[in-house]
Amino acid sequence: MSAIDALPPLREVIAAHGLSARKSLGQNFLLDLNLTAKIARQAGDLSGCDVLEIGPGPGGLTRGLLAEGARHVLAVEKDARCLPALHQIAAAYPGRLTILEGDALAIDPLAHLTPPVRVAANLPYNIGTELLVRWLTPPDWPPFWQSLTLMFQREVADRIVAQPGGKAYGRLAVLAQWRCEARIVMSLPPEAFTPPPKVSSAVVHLTALPAPRFPADPGTLSRVVAAAFNQRRKMLRAALKGLAPDIEERLTTAGLDPTDRAEQVSIEGFCALARALAR
Ligand code: SAM
Repeated sequence: MSAIDALPPLREVIAAHGLSARKSLGQNFLLDLNLTAKIARQAGDLSGCDVLEIGPGPGGLTRGLLAEGARHVLAVEKDARCLPALHQIAAAYPGRLTILEGDALAIDPLAHLTPPVRVAANLPYNIGTELLVRWLTPPDWPPFWQSLTLMFQREVADRIVAQPGGKAYGRLAVLAQWRCEARIVMSLPPEAFTPPPKVSSAVVHLTALPAPRFPADPGTLSRVVAAAFNQRRKMLRAALKGLAPDIEERLTTAGLDPTDRAEQVSIEGFCALARALAR
């Protein structure tokens, strides 16, 4: 573990501030600063960007982001025990780190961010999917962020990048890939974390496309996709019958086979159906 800055190693920081990991806060810390710097590099060129980080904890990834040249980092942390360690980092990088104490689901970070913005985080597993869905469904597109570089449990990462035809393909894949380029850029074993979680993890990098890949009303698309995958084993004509009395006709208009199941439908197909339903 070589030094990326003049601050103490993370094990010392954790001991000095009594930061025993709490399961209820999804605390699995990354203590290898080379690894956190590597994750920060996956977020792209940070030098001209503000970076929003959710859940900095003792600050391993925060230090990676700053050492990799982020113009400014806004770190939102719920656990007040972590704040002294984070203030120490802020002092080592004057004017480049702002710390907000609070719940990332309740705080609106936008007032504290100047574009261009990238998001990078080792997310608490219990709110990771909810935050991702919020970032993927803003009122307007393009969103406030250019890219999201996020650590998830491997199974969630697989669902984000999944292609049609498999079990992992569902609402998350359609939401993510309709308006983003999404790929898994790193895989991490449980031992990379302290304490190690039960499952492997992966870093997903999502880049916002300037416009959706296929036209569709976001609300209609979201309803269609939710209904289709809520009953993913049923044929489309049965799973979607609540959406329109003439659903078979609309499916055919969209170029879909009413006897297909949701996991066989491409993003283009769902968008065509959303358009056929909006007509
Ligand atoms: N970034 C650190 C690292 O990589 O070592 C910690 C990652 S740990 C998986 C998740 C962090 O999110 C913890 O520090 C936890 O306290 C924080 N957290 C949990 N729930 C949160 C919430 N609702 N809002 C903000 N932070 C939260």
